[in-house]
Amino acid sequence: MRKQHFLVTGGAGFIGSHLVDALLEAGHSVTVLDDLSVGKEQNFAHHRTHPDFHFVKGSVLDKPLVERLIAPVDGVYHLAAVVGVKYVVEDPLHGMQVNVRGTETILETALERRCKVVIASSSETYGKSTQVPFAEENNTVLGATSIPRWSYAVAKLLDEHLACAYYRQKGLPTVCVRYFNAYGPRLDPRGYGSVIARFISQALDGNPLTVYGDGQQTRSFTFVGDAVYGTIAAMETPESAGLTFNIGNPREITMDQLARTIQEAVGTAGAILHIPYTEAYGANFEDSRRRLPDIQRSKAVLGFEATTSLEDGLHQTILWFKEHRHEFI
Ligand code: UDP
Repeated sequence: MRKQHFLVTGGAGFIGSHLVDALLEAGHSVTVLDDLSVGKEQNFAHHRTHPDFHFVKGSVLDKPLVERLIAPVDGVYHLAAVVGVKYVVEDPLHGMQVNVRGTETILETALERRCKVVIASSSETYGKSTQVPFAEENNTVLGATSIPRWSYAVAKLLDEHLACAYYRQKGLPTVCVRYFNAYGPRLDPRGYGSVIARFISQALDGNPLTVYGDGQQTRSFTFVGDAVYGTIAAMETPESAGLTFNIGNPREITMDQLARTIQEAVGTAGAILHIPYTEAYGANFEDSRRRLPDIQRSKAVLGFEATTSLEDGLHQTILWFKEHRHEFI
């Protein structure tokens, strides 16, 4: 393996910090750019003295800084973004500004250096589509602009369009990866609004689990180690350029089933409360009813397949929460 130097934006965040672990483990050199708005120093504290690890606190919107950081690298993993339904619903303007301008800044700058860029996108982009399983060439179905939730998917789709245009019109190698509900150790129980983080915290505290809506909506949860594997494969596979890939585990589960599975794994048997969406997210909210990835393209081009079962992944995540959740109180 040739030692390479990568810039990881959002490298102090949940997926980003696991990606940094894997890149350093593989013998590469890593520079992290993160504004620590959601990411945390604890997520990379164990690399502080690593000679190949560099951390820069700053924003992807700071063009001179991005130019300076991209100049020496071989590739960019762009994961810095405002994520989480809760944040997006509360402040859609900030979400769109960071998620679109940040990606534009990265692509503009990477073009000067002509280095490959892997851009983090999301299964949220499939929106309300009922064409299940979701393949990358399927239509996306997003709701009205009066529903703030969809602004995140629109911003991520614009990122993907920008990436495709930079590839087709400028010849810049770009790849987009659509994560399907990644979870695992370091998932912030307060941030992102992730249902797995919330259910585990609630179960460990002996509180009722809060299922929104009728609990029959589904997700396909992907262990963070699998998400990282797919992300690195997207960078390393030359044939990936210009394409978008689903990075997901094709095991579909309803929120009711997830609540029961987590209660069993934690060893509690408390109540499961069904809460109307309006109470959880306010008015003007819509949810994705089903989410299941078609991974044929990822398997064929990247050799990607999720290998961690939901049970194993939850076990590792619960262990981490038991040890670390006091840090968030
Ligand atoms: N959800 C839930 N209880 C919670 C938080 C979320 O039932 O305490 C539901 C949410 O309405 C959605 C699913 O869990 O249907 C996944 O939500 P999350 O915010 O984790 O991610 P999404 O896939 O919606 O981006």
